[in-house]
Amino acid sequence: MSQPTAPEPLSASEREDAQVSRLLTWLSATAIVLLAGIGAKAWFAEHTTHAWVLWFFIGLIAINMLAFARTGNRVRRKAGLIVVVGLLFTYLMASGGESNTGPLWFYVFPPLLFYLTDLKTGTAVLLFCYLVAVVVFQFPGLPMVSAEYSTDFKIRFFSTLTFESIFCFVLEASRLKARHELLTLAESHERAARTDELTGLANRRDMHNRLSGEFSRYQRSGHHFSIALIDLDLFKKINDRYGHDAGDQVLREFSALMQTVIRQTDVAGRWGGEEFLILLPDTSLLQALTLAERLRSEVARHPFRFGEQALPVTISAGVCSIAKAGSLDDLLKQADLNLYAAKEAGRNRIAPRVRTQEEEGASPTP
Ligand code: GH3
Ligand code: MG
Ligand code: MG
Repeated sequence: MSQPTAPEPLSASEREDAQVSRLLTWLSATAIVLLAGIGAKAWFAEHTTHAWVLWFFIGLIAINMLAFARTGNRVRRKAGLIVVVGLLFTYLMASGGESNTGPLWFYVFPPLLFYLTDLKTGTAVLLFCYLVAVVVFQFPGLPMVSAEYSTDFKIRFFSTLTFESIFCFVLEASRLKARHELLTLAESHERAARTDELTGLANRRDMHNRLSGEFSRYQRSGHHFSIALIDLDLFKKINDRYGHDAGDQVLREFSALMQTVIRQTDVAGRWGGEEFLILLPDTSLLQALTLAERLRSEVARHPFRFGEQALPVTISAGVCSIAKAGSLDDLLKQADLNLYAAKEAGRNRIAPRVRTQEEEGASPTP
């Protein structure tokens, strides 16, 4: 089994995940600084219990950060932060914070929540927090609840918070929709940049990348690989006789046929015009020659047609193994020389030629 030939670059959603993760680290650090400052202010105002509770929350945020540093689990860190922030805001609401302004911090929650979670989870958590807020507001006699708010304040608090929550929901929904469209577009552009339009195979640029990846793997761990450079024989004649559309159809049909012959780990690409390249990981020269020969005979047997017309299609190929080359350039050059030799020898053949058993037997022993 071959390993991935080249290290895949981060996908757009992975990049976004990493960005959210950096933002969370930054948010957690800011929260710690804020809590330390507000706690100190409360301490000097002789609200010592309040100060201690705020500092206790610093401890919770720090534990969440440390746990993430150790495990790297982003989902758990997100959930941890939401729970800690939710508890903190509930405490501020229940205690009133400084001069009964505690509930105002709650306005931070809806945008943060929708940014960190999906719309469904965000709405569910927010509804739960509403419920907690209603309980705290309606039952000031409950243990831990020490703040009392006027009816006017409660009505305004809930209506403004509801307005903010709906607004955040709508904004986040449209942000997600735009993000989805953008990601889809970026993916299709990335795919188009490495795909040949006519045949759907990897294009020359992608093949270069894959070759480089395979060559690095060979240098790192000594995994051999081979390539086959294939050229359609007398293709100009097909174009001249049957038209360019017939030529295009042959290129597509040949590509599809080639895909059925190669293994899943092999990669076929259009090298340019009517030239194709197959990258064969973990394949010796002899195995590559065998595969090229099978492809040659399949193509020679395949009935290519354009409408009623039968088209004469054959291929020639130059094969080379990395064991016989010092560098990628050398490998490609030698495959090209072999292809030239196959053409010179009369086309519809593979080079270098594998000697048959009779030929082996007939040759004098050195
Ligand atoms: P040889 O056996 O020596 O390779 O002969 P050839 O005729 O195949 O080689 P030559 O290089 O003279 O001609 C290649 C032809 O391939 C010329 C070009 O018009 C045609 N060709 C290249 N790309 C395409 C394509 O995308 N579609 C079509 N229909 N023809 C193409
Ligand atoms: Mg050619
Ligand atoms: Mg040709």
